Amino acid sequence: MALDFDGYAIGGLSVGERRSQMLPALDAALAVLPEDQPRYLMGVGDPVTIVEAVARGVDMFDCVLPTRLARHGTLLTDSGRLNIKRAEFACSGEPVSASCGCETCRRYSRGYLRHLMTVAEPAGATLCTIHNLTWMLDLVGRIRRAIASGTLDALRHELAVSYAGMNPGG
Ligand SMILES: [Zn+2]
Repeated sequence: MALDFDGYAIGGLSVGERRSQMLPALDAALAVLPEDQPRYLMGVGDPVTIVEAVARGVDMFDCVLPTRLARHGTLLTDSGRLNIKRAEFACSGEPVSASCGCETCRRYSRGYLRHLMTVAEPAGATLCTIHNLTWMLDLVGRIRRAIASGTLDALRHELAVSYAGMNPGG
């Protein structure tokens, strides 16, 4: 901070520890970093840790998690993770999420995505990635709106329920 950087990265977290161990360490770092400059938490991409970190004052994130999950057929939705490769989706004509505006949800069914993923067609991973990145961008938009409207605690609770059992590394 004596060098007066434009912002500060917080690293060394999300390396396998539990969220209950990570958040106190994050609190300790945030306690000494300037509030009027961007604070960036490196390598965190799970929805619960993102909203918990924002609630503590983190401004920026980067993570491979949404794309890595997509390549394995795990989709992020408002009701939690969805494994598109499950047999129950074989004949589904439903989109991944009816409320999602992404190209994948507007044009392709769960059944088609499942087919692409089970035959290892690369387009499947691409379409799943488009959805997961759209969902993450929508999430940060929801977080911004929740802060503005004073409903961040409700969103924290909603994500804690939907994504119970998901660790910071996925
Ligand atoms: Zn979508």
